[in-house]
Amino acid sequence: MCEVNPHWANMVDYGLVTPNLGWKSYYVRPSDQMQLRSLTSMVQKYGLDFISKASVGRNAVVLVKPEHNDQFLRELADQNIAYTVHVNDVKAQLDIDDALLEARKNSLEGEVSIFDRYLELEEIDAYLADVANKYPDLVTLQNGTTFEGRPIYLMKIAKPSDDDKEKPIIIVDAGIHSREWISPPTALYAISKLVDEAIDKDLIEDLDWVILPMLNPDGYKYSRTTDPLWLKTRSTDNHDNSVECPGADANSNFDFYWNLYGTSSDPCDNNYAGRQPFSEIEVQFGQRNLEQYGYRTILYISLHSYGSQILYSWGHDGTLSQQAFALQTVGVSIANAIHENAQPNYPRYIVGNSALVTGQQTSGSTVDFLHYNGVPLSFNLVLPGVLDNTKGFNPDPKEIEQIAKETWAGIVVAARRARDLFGDWNK
Ligand SMILES: [Zn+2]
Repeated sequence: MCEVNPHWANMVDYGLVTPNLGWKSYYVRPSDQMQLRSLTSMVQKYGLDFISKASVGRNAVVLVKPEHNDQFLRELADQNIAYTVHVNDVKAQLDIDDALLEARKNSLEGEVSIFDRYLELEEIDAYLADVANKYPDLVTLQNGTTFEGRPIYLMKIAKPSDDDKEKPIIIVDAGIHSREWISPPTALYAISKLVDEAIDKDLIEDLDWVILPMLNPDGYKYSRTTDPLWLKTRSTDNHDNSVECPGADANSNFDFYWNLYGTSSDPCDNNYAGRQPFSEIEVQFGQRNLEQYGYRTILYISLHSYGSQILYSWGHDGTLSQQAFALQTVGVSIANAIHENAQPNYPRYIVGNSALVTGQQTSGSTVDFLHYNGVPLSFNLVLPGVLDNTKGFNPDPKEIEQIAKETWAGIVVAARRARDLFGDWNK
């Protein structure tokens, strides 16, 4: 087991930044596939940023910068695409969100659950160290270092088998997009269940688990301290403009049709793919470790938000892989399990090919990269949140545990289906 460094990373001075000034956000509801395509074709033209992903018949939430606002609305009207204002002043709403989170933190007293609020990065790291110390026979913690010098962790939860046989592996990761605050606690919840004595024994007797609960620590730190809507890494060595516009989209930085579909070569864009595949040190950490387990991995789940969607390959062109039937049926099983445990106000999950469901092509994503490299079941699990008629940009902290819990129900079903379908690879 690695030693956990008690000294946190060198503090980087983020300077005086006032992000998101003048931005607005809109609910946009494409009524059919044509409208969905029209909407997503405006992404590059107007620098649109989807907080909640688009799909037919549902409200997407899209951020719009002031310089593009009027033209964007004009084009929506021309195309007859329905929209309403979500937040008229994004900066002001983020300040309100911040005050609410602070009030929530201050209202919690005594021994509280780690799922009662959005944890700071250091608290997440401390939780992982604590679990590793408590369960040395079951848990291994490996670490790497981020661009800004913070630790980045991988937790392996593996019960030694009696016959020393290698077991199939389930990989779950979270936090690759730093502003998607609901995803790391959902991964931590999975960890808390896997080390719990009360877990159904087959889940750790039959399977090994690899959890990367925070793949983009620098971005998360920045999103918690400076710009809550920050999505990318924080690297500054990609491009001449990278000091002004740091980071790359880590989920576009893997080597699968890299930077060919749905990404940008402009470092100031949120979908900037980096200067080359694996340019981001956090992505290198992920790739190294994911490849190490590659041939044994039967299920990969990448936790994102928001949109209540279960998405699978191929993201670059909307074609289906040879595992499409398994992906769809297991995806539906996950959706059903989550639905049985969900709050009534959450929408049902939509299951399907990522490019077809969201109308957006992607390249260099973890889900496609791992599927291409032999992981039969590879899913992007886009968690719920930012529901209709809510103004904030993250779910109320009171809902963290519920979302984590219902998602865990889905992960359990997926793990068992994966084991039954693909678990006999070494027999
Ligand atoms: Zn994401």
